[in-house]
Amino acid sequence: MSDILIVGAGITGLTLAWALRERGHRVRLLEARPEAGGNIRSLHADRYLVDLGPNSLLDRGGEGLARLIDALGLEERVTVANPAASRRYVCRNGKVQALPAGPGGFVRTPLFSLGAKLRLLTEPWRGRAERDESVADFVRRRLGPEFLDWAVDPFVSGVYAGDAEKLSVRAATARIYALEAEAGSLIRGAVRRARQGRAAGPTPRGRLIGFRDGLHELTDALAAKLDGDLLVGTPVNGVRRLAGNWVADTAQGAVEAERLVLAVPAHAAADLLEPFKRELAGDLRGISYPGVVNVALGFPRQAVAHALDGFGLLIPSREGCETLGVLFSSTLFPNRAPAEHVLLTAFVGGARNPEAPARDDASLIAGVVEELTPLLGLTGAPDFARVTRWPRAIPQYNLGHLERLERIDAALEELPGLTLAGNWRGGIAVGDCINNALALAEQLGGGDA
Ligand SMILES: Cc1cc2nc3c(=O)[nH]c(=O)nc-3n(C[C@H](O)[C@H](O)[C@H](O)COP(=O)(O)OP(=O)(O)OC[C@H]3O[C@@H](n4cnc5c(N)ncnc54)[C@H](O)[C@@H]3O)c2cc1C
Repeated sequence: MSDILIVGAGITGLTLAWALRERGHRVRLLEARPEAGGNIRSLHADRYLVDLGPNSLLDRGGEGLARLIDALGLEERVTVANPAASRRYVCRNGKVQALPAGPGGFVRTPLFSLGAKLRLLTEPWRGRAERDESVADFVRRRLGPEFLDWAVDPFVSGVYAGDAEKLSVRAATARIYALEAEAGSLIRGAVRRARQGRAAGPTPRGRLIGFRDGLHELTDALAAKLDGDLLVGTPVNGVRRLAGNWVADTAQGAVEAERLVLAVPAHAAADLLEPFKRELAGDLRGISYPGVVNVALGFPRQAVAHALDGFGLLIPSREGCETLGVLFSSTLFPNRAPAEHVLLTAFVGGARNPEAPARDDASLIAGVVEELTPLLGLTGAPDFARVTRWPRAIPQYNLGHLERLERIDAALEELPGLTLAGNWRGGIAVGDCINNALALAEQLGGGDA
């Protein structure tokens, strides 16, 4: 019998299992799919290299991701994104504009009207909201409607594939909300943080990274470290209690442990916990996961007029397109496309268009190409196209999410030995999942790794 049984070998479950083993625990990790990695999947096809889920990771330096890369000996495999990635494009009225970087760029940008720019000067004097509000309400109140439409809405689509009118500012954009909470103003808060940062001396700046062979290198390396303790192709069909222990039932047999961690999506945890607590299962199931489709397109370089000199292009909802945005993947990282070709990775669907995953490949590809043609100056059809559906992609931290988490935690107190983990709490970025898993390992496993 192992000390700790973990269900779900996405980045959360893999990191947790690895960190607990490093602390000397006996661990078992069960994964339903034939391979580990969860949302992290990479594909080589027709001399293109496509990351099908997450495409890049933010390494803030000194935090979990950096520690993990170091411990796994992967630093040599890391590729740092092209410096051009700091430029991000947004379109307004069908015109592609770079998001302004710095105060000078902000004054000159045609993305925002003069009225919107002047309104920003009054931001430090805007009052606070009494209770949680949507990201959209927060931004309208503090910065004005144009910042919502042309900067924050596309950002929210790019990160959450979500709806700014529904996402909770305190849960989904906690770092931004903290500026208001700490300083009463986003501008004052940002200035204060910059001063504190300077006073603390040089700190490692965040870097956007990938891996030479795609992001799956990270999860493959973790899986390799777990050798016999990771069982793939082993879906857990039910969990139960037995004499104070937990048991997971699989087609291959029952696995018993003193402690059980479900590192699966909230809806999958709900299915397993329904027989124990119907309200807990209901709260977990209430976290919505709209579907997203990744449409990867390869073109000869000369068939794309745009310089592709940036991270990508975000398309605000007000533009009325179904494409949420497109990454300039072959600009970001080397070896993504054959010579004289480029790889674009577009995303469709999300809270804005939840039916997208039900559509066939041809219509999804045609729809994206049609919308990107005037924006990026495409000529002709792509010579490579690959559609990947994520029917339940990203958990939405909607209004009421924090109260939901409190109810979930209260219910778990009555189920000793059970822990829930995963990207539906504490951040959806891969870096957040790693940090949360390392913190959980410390809590469950005690001592230093
Ligand atoms: C399309 C897309 C693009 C994204 N882009 C980015 C990005 O660019 N940067 C970034 O930082 N993040 C991005 N994310 C978010 C990030 O990928 C996820 O938040 C993160 O990978 C989630 O990891 P996890 O381990 O918590 O969950 P998951 O990856 O969902 O892993 C859960 C695992 O549990 C398994 N499982 C479920 N039920 C059972 C069961 N009953 N028995 C056994 N196993 C089970 C599943 O098969 C899965 O492997 C993106 C996500 C998606 C979907």
